[in-house]
Amino acid sequence: MIREPLIFEITDPGKKAFSMPELDVPERKDLLKDIPSREEIKDFPQVSEIEIVRHFTRLSKTNYCIDEGFYPLGSCTMKYNPKVNEKVAALDGFTSSHPYAALDVNQGNLEVLKTTEKLLQQITGMDAFTLQPSAGAQGELVGMMLIRACLEDRGDPRKIVLIPDSAHGTNPSSAHTCGYQVQEVKSNESGTIDVDDLAKVISEDVAAVMITNPNTLGIFENDINKITEIVHAKGGFVYMDGANMNALLGICRPGDMGADVIHLNLHKTFSTPHGGGGPGSGPVGVKKNLEPFLPVPLIEQNEGIYSFNYERPKSIGRVRAFYGNFLVIVKALAYILSLGAEGLKEVSEIAVLNANYIRKKLEGIYHLKYSTPALHECVFSDKFQKKYGVQNLDIAKRLIDLDMHPPTMSFPLIVHGALMIEPTETESKRDLDLFTDAMQQIAEEAREDPEILKLAPHKSYVRRLDETFAARNPILRWQLTQE
Ligand SMILES: *Cc1c(COP(=O)(O)O)cnc(C)c1O
Repeated sequence: MIREPLIFEITDPGKKAFSMPELDVPERKDLLKDIPSREEIKDFPQVSEIEIVRHFTRLSKTNYCIDEGFYPLGSCTMKYNPKVNEKVAALDGFTSSHPYAALDVNQGNLEVLKTTEKLLQQITGMDAFTLQPSAGAQGELVGMMLIRACLEDRGDPRKIVLIPDSAHGTNPSSAHTCGYQVQEVKSNESGTIDVDDLAKVISEDVAAVMITNPNTLGIFENDINKITEIVHAKGGFVYMDGANMNALLGICRPGDMGADVIHLNLHKTFSTPHGGGGPGSGPVGVKKNLEPFLPVPLIEQNEGIYSFNYERPKSIGRVRAFYGNFLVIVKALAYILSLGAEGLKEVSEIAVLNANYIRKKLEGIYHLKYSTPALHECVFSDKFQKKYGVQNLDIAKRLIDLDMHPPTMSFPLIVHGALMIEPTETESKRDLDLFTDAMQQIAEEAREDPEILKLAPHKSYVRRLDETFAARNPILRWQLTQE
């Protein structure tokens, strides 16, 4: 395959993508005096229209996306995002409005935000929401800050946050960034929190326990009520990582399980395309006791008029400019309203069914460390393939040759050589079968021709990359002089 050159490399002096008629009015260079013209920018690419179109079209085809095929990246909930959400978010009234515009012209936007808050409250069983955080990780930090503010307000600042060993890496880093000492809680043989271990390490120095439910193995924490009781009895808070909400919609609610604070990932569960780095949205829901600490401003509605309330003395302050990633919130609202309560429940039911279909079909072909029934995702490992010298990375890379996105690898950390598969509800049985066929083919290749896996991918635009080198020595700016 030919390497697509950089746009700077296909430049031909004098070429342009368009031509304009001669000016028939006086030229006003002063209007743009602070903006350099193309002629003044060194190395500005000079290409024709077709060259630009072909360059970017070819580049776009080197990427993989959910609109192209199966995307089983576990924990990330890479569902298909209905196009109607995009249509709604692209309406002029949304895209052209400005957060600084007067409140009386922004009433519709505030209604969108308030309605989304209320629906998220119903879905999760929490009492109030902030829509400000831009991602799950920021939501976690905000949740931790709320807990800290509340404990300090009680004159009982604490030091420790307990986190199970199966947790997503952002959990310990959020707690740590918020100034807490992180202590690990072990998982038992069924892959859930060891309640006895928790009871041993809980103390009045524990500010919170961060729990993901279902956890990152896709397993529901059956002892969740016991866990929240143990934590609450010592005056601590329960933070629930709601990234796996796709398994629970319309079936059960974190608020009813005793969670005091949760974050959601609108870009995962509530349908915004993600994976390219954003935009995302990580709303945080709280119970009544944490509400006074929510970020300002809060949206209020009095006699049908929406307004912002900044008069909140205990608030942790603003955590983001304006009111959240507005258009992501619009898409989530469009998604929730278009599915309705029954539709949302069906989302989770099918997500769980699809994951269990894959699990059953691949059981015995790939190693399953935990036999506990799981919900919306399944975590296999490369244990059976290791004896042929094949690792999870080889399996993942080979899937690229078979026109599928690889699953999440090497996470959760408690499964060595993990392959974490989350099909989501949007995949048809036909697509699930294509995937399990591909995985079966790879298992056969591991036995018969392991070299083909170790050198995979063979068909992709680039072969195996040195990811460490790319992370340590990123080339963020092309300089022609580097040639
Ligand atoms: C994705 C994820 C997060 C972090 O969310 P971002 O939106 O990527 O910041 C946290 N916990 C779990 C379990 C996740 O899957």
